[in-house]
Amino acid sequence: MIFKSINPYTTEIIAEHELLTDSQLNQKLAQAEKAFKYWRTTTFAERAEKMKNLATVLRNKQNELGLLITNEMGKILQEGIDEVGKSAANCDFYAEKAEEMLQDHFHDTPFKSMSVYDPMGAVFAIMPWNYPFWQVLRYAAPAIMAGNVSILKHAPNVIGCAKAIEEAFLEAGFPEGVFQQITIDIPQVEKVIASDIVSGITLTGSEMAGSSVAALAGKHIKKTVMELGGSDAFIILDDADIEKAATVATQSRMLNAGQACICAKRFIVTEKVANAFAALFAEKISRLTQGNPLDTTIAMGPLARLDLAEKLSHQLEKSLEQGAKLVLGGSRENCNFQPTLIDFVDANNIAFQEETFGPLATLIRAKDEKDAIAIANNHRYGLASSLWTEDRDNAYKVARQIEAGNVFVNSLVRSDSRIPFGGIKKSGYGRELSDVGIKEFMNVKSVIIE
Ligand code: NAP
Repeated sequence: MIFKSINPYTTEIIAEHELLTDSQLNQKLAQAEKAFKYWRTTTFAERAEKMKNLATVLRNKQNELGLLITNEMGKILQEGIDEVGKSAANCDFYAEKAEEMLQDHFHDTPFKSMSVYDPMGAVFAIMPWNYPFWQVLRYAAPAIMAGNVSILKHAPNVIGCAKAIEEAFLEAGFPEGVFQQITIDIPQVEKVIASDIVSGITLTGSEMAGSSVAALAGKHIKKTVMELGGSDAFIILDDADIEKAATVATQSRMLNAGQACICAKRFIVTEKVANAFAALFAEKISRLTQGNPLDTTIAMGPLARLDLAEKLSHQLEKSLEQGAKLVLGGSRENCNFQPTLIDFVDANNIAFQEETFGPLATLIRAKDEKDAIAIANNHRYGLASSLWTEDRDNAYKVARQIEAGNVFVNSLVRSDSRIPFGGIKKSGYGRELSDVGIKEFMNVKSVIIE
């Protein structure tokens, strides 16, 4: 069996990747075990030197790797190049900060007591195609700086990226087995989870994938971090700067052709400013061009796979049948989906209830602030939210009422190496990034000395 990398814009097959046999997979697991025995004994300084090298390797190949991302999953070239740059910066950040984050922690007891952070083994990562470098380096840089090793199962359409990341680790001087990519299909996933060397599983992907992998992890008593789907609220209150809000709303919904977990998906605007905001939002979306991702003048490329584009078309059709009003866009040719805005959406509409993974913006009108908060919270997901108001004191009060893992006031939701990132409800659990994320796959060992 093989996985094919298909350019979603040209539909050309770029590469074919053979899946590992069970015996090849066993060798990879044994390699991870061998690597962990050595890697856990290295100093932070030794790990940091290699992690800095990795940042350099990524930067040296930034354009080439950006092009690989574009060819495999269709984002515009500049977004691919920027993604590699952000991934390199993340490597630098953990090279510099991991030791400080994992210092022994002393407790206030009459005897000497402390918590120390020990690495636990291999982190098995199951990753999506939408940010094929960033999602990987986001978990891998802290995990590896902490002394763990890593095994990656990437999405089948970005195996070229997975292989390029593995090559970059080796070129940076990491010993073999510290970072490995494995080309496997779903039936082989349990074998990896069950392996003794795997101490934890981190999954970024859909709710369905999360539920299935969390069940397997439970069966084998392995810890998990789940970064799942979202239907993030972008809340615009009466006193918002609506011009700025409309600019960031457009960026937030349409970046990566709308294919990010933290793309705002439900735009909830209070009645008083709804018409003005709707007009500005429509005008800004209408200026976006969609097409060849290598054309530097366009704003967005195709969706990554035909089945994803078809699903979005179905969601749009159904939402219109259910009473939403099409303001602009709505057409599709193969993977090319026009930037689209629908208005007068309510909580019974499919575009409200389901995650829409593409350039479809959904406008929901709220009576007032209280109603807007209630609408935002009336959802199975709770990943991130963006809140727009000029009243900073009130912003804090409203932010505390929003059911989400992150709230950004007057700015674009984004993941940042320095800040914990993750969701609640069906958006998952656990955190990535920062001093919180780096400890997810550590043994917090209490040492008491009397
Ligand atoms: P997906 O279909 O769930 O796939 C994600 C990964 O999970 C892929 O490697 C996939 O492999 C694997 N997978 C799927 N079902 C599985 C199963 N039963 N057992 C083991 N592995 C399984 O999601 P996607 O379409 O690639 O990505 C989009 C989703 O990811 C959206 O819901 C988005 O919101 C979410 N996401 C969340 C975050 C976050 O930080 N919270 C970030 C990015 C994306 P196969 O393709 O081989 O099935």
